[in-house]
Amino acid sequence: MKDTVAVVGAGTSGLIMARDLEGYGIGTSVYDQKTKLGYPAKASGIISINGLKSLGIGYEKAVTNTLYGANIHVGKEVMRIIAKNPQAHVLDRVRLNEICYDEAVDKGASVNTGARIDSRKIGELHEKNILVGADGPLSEVAKYFSMGSISKYTLTYKAEFNVDVEDAKVVDLFFDNRVAPKFFAWICPNAKDILEVGIGIGSRYGNSKAAFEKFLKLDEVAGYVRRGKLLDGYASLIPMQTVRKVVDEKNEVLLVGDAAGQVKPTTGGGIVFGGNAARLAAKVISEHLRKGVSLNDYGRLFKKSFGTDIAMHSLINKLYANLDVEKLGFLLNVSKTLGFESFFSRYGDMDRPSVMLKRFILRGSAK
Ligand SMILES: Cc1cc2nc3c(=O)[nH]c(=O)nc-3n(C[C@H](O)[C@H](O)[C@H](O)COP(=O)(O)OP(=O)(O)OC[C@H]3O[C@@H](n4cnc5c(N)ncnc54)[C@H](O)[C@@H]3O)c2cc1C
Repeated sequence: MKDTVAVVGAGTSGLIMARDLEGYGIGTSVYDQKTKLGYPAKASGIISINGLKSLGIGYEKAVTNTLYGANIHVGKEVMRIIAKNPQAHVLDRVRLNEICYDEAVDKGASVNTGARIDSRKIGELHEKNILVGADGPLSEVAKYFSMGSISKYTLTYKAEFNVDVEDAKVVDLFFDNRVAPKFFAWICPNAKDILEVGIGIGSRYGNSKAAFEKFLKLDEVAGYVRRGKLLDGYASLIPMQTVRKVVDEKNEVLLVGDAAGQVKPTTGGGIVFGGNAARLAAKVISEHLRKGVSLNDYGRLFKKSFGTDIAMHSLINKLYANLDVEKLGFLLNVSKTLGFESFFSRYGDMDRPSVMLKRFILRGSAK
């Protein structure tokens, strides 16, 4: 019986998994094609404070800013959702990866960098180990074991600007299907002097860099980065659906994180869901080895813990993705009239719409 684990991918999901597996006393090796892990940071780092705490990472040294809310822009309409307490941190993603690496290695994991795993190596690793694919949205492991390919993606482009940020407490989100079809654009204060501008578009809508350049030219956007110095810019992608199966019980293979499509379809945030999936998978592997429980428990537990929220995020995404800016603006105004601006400010939860819904039902109204 195999009693060690090989993890392909040393992003946050793979490293959190390795840390927890070693914590259960299971020998774990991680393989990543990159020589400098997490670099360059093609993704953003807005993560809810509750979500961060659930991952058990000593993340504090990666925090570059703290957010209290968001301005939601739909055309000329704006809804301002601002809480009394901090809601999310912005983290330096390269630093976060380094922290996860240190925690995994301190627990005893071996992390091999500059190690691209192709199909031949997947076969070799799989012969001796339980195999985990934490290798991102274009997972080789998922392909090799035919666990279901992801065909729906959001294409992204983001860049940082060196500017004096006016309001570092809120992120601005822009919903307009003509500018960011099927997704949205954002302007986030990564730090007091760094503003990140980013955009996501459905994968059938062309080129994310061209969409980004068009977004920057909008009157309401140009002002944010005027006279700012462009620091860097990157294209990337976000999976917009989960894979068909996250466990191949017979072959003892599991998928976690972006490899499994475990992201919020509303915002593309995947650190909290992917990291928690990795923690659940590590626990199930440990119980599999000690007590013989089925690896399929991982899929069941993930669904039980996050299935409802992922489904709700997906519904919200479908709503804004399919409405034109006039209808969305109308909906925003109606929501304001019904008191949702203050409701979201008090009870908003960026990871768990189900928690918000429960609060709404208990109160009986948004006011
Ligand atoms: C523009 C953008 C903004 C985002 N903003 C946020 C945000 O604000 N908050 C949030 O929570 N999430 C955000 N996300 C999503 C988040 O970045 C991902 O969900 C998260 O990085 C997934 O982590 P992971 O470890 O599962 O996969 P990844 O971070 O993709 O890591 C996979 C690793 O596997 C390695 N790898 C791949 N193939 C192989 C191979 N064949 N052999 C060896 N190694 C391999 C890669 O080098 C990589 O290091 C954003 C994403 C994008 C694109």
